[in-house]
Amino acid sequence: MTDRTSAPYRLRLPGPTAVPETIQQAMVAPIVSHRGPEFQAVIRETASLAKPVLGTANEPMFFTSSGTGMMEAALANVLARGDRALVLANGQFGERFASIARSLFLDVDCLDVPWGEAVSGDTVAARLAKADYQAVVAVHNESSTGAVADLAGIGAAVRDTPAVLVVDSVSGLGGIEMRQDDWGVDVVLSASQKALMCPPGVGLASISGKAWKVIGDGRERARFYWDFRKARDSAAKGQTVFTPPVSLITGLREALRMINEEGVANVLSRHHRLADAMRAGGSALGLEIFTKAPIVSDTVTVFTVPEGLDGTDVVRHMYEHYGTVIAGSRSRLKGKVLRIGTMGACTETDILQDLEHLEKTLLDLGWPVRSGAGADAAGESFRQTS
Ligand code: PLP
Repeated sequence: MTDRTSAPYRLRLPGPTAVPETIQQAMVAPIVSHRGPEFQAVIRETASLAKPVLGTANEPMFFTSSGTGMMEAALANVLARGDRALVLANGQFGERFASIARSLFLDVDCLDVPWGEAVSGDTVAARLAKADYQAVVAVHNESSTGAVADLAGIGAAVRDTPAVLVVDSVSGLGGIEMRQDDWGVDVVLSASQKALMCPPGVGLASISGKAWKVIGDGRERARFYWDFRKARDSAAKGQTVFTPPVSLITGLREALRMINEEGVANVLSRHHRLADAMRAGGSALGLEIFTKAPIVSDTVTVFTVPEGLDGTDVVRHMYEHYGTVIAGSRSRLKGKVLRIGTMGACTETDILQDLEHLEKTLLDLGWPVRSGAGADAAGESFRQTS
């Protein structure tokens, strides 16, 4: 039991995110055979609707997995024991990629930059000019810091080398731009529970022709459940290799229908507009944006907690007193940052309410803020972009 008041529960994490009613309804449909024609139609439509979101002509594949499973799957398929991987590490998920790579007995080189910043395409090009790598591994939207990778620049640096570019877009896809084919991203992996507005449980991967050549090069790789070759054969039949999360994929189809109906470009500009207002509102409350990268995330806003306050207290207070669930950090930034999701089925009202609850929390904890400052600044930001 918690000490929480009776305020309505508001899920405002940078994932999992709130699931809209229409998607919930789609998921309570009776379970059908995962090898029958009804579900084949679901898989085929889901894959086809995912393509414009990914910016690809590749055939997306679905797995029963969280995001981390897909990170491991991507590396296990592309790289063989002892292969060299250049991992761009500018946050918790870049570091996780490096740990996964080490656990697969890969030869890992980390390109470390301070958290909050991002690695430039030029830096990657300079590394690739000095050494051979079989893969360059990046996180599109580093959810721990709000830094967005310059995938166009990194893709240009990797494109004409033998290396395969593997990108985690777990918290990016559906909320910030992904142009897999134009940018030369060879493997995009993602998961259902963030900007794709679904519960956790579905992983997806989209693989380029260049990556398929590497995946099928005949070298020994330790993979069974995650074998992308088997997944591709099943996808061609409108199936998955193993039992899929039938209800969740049906929900994902609904989510992708919604995204395509709104229009991918409109969805992305809505995310930008909401994130801008959140940034303006938080700044007006005296909170600095933690992110220093040239491209700041529109799916998660990361604020630095002012000296004298503990972020863990802010997160707990906001939940216990106002019912609003935001994130702190479970990494080296514990207590030092606040992270709020601005992705998926998020609205103007959500942003205004987040800021109101944040403001009240700061005041309750003795931090001086002008009453209404956050909502005023966010409202002004909305007016400028309407
Ligand atoms: N990558 C990024 C960028 C994430 O934000 C997350 C989760 O927050 C993950 C990977 C891990 O995903 P999961 O928790 O679904 O395994």
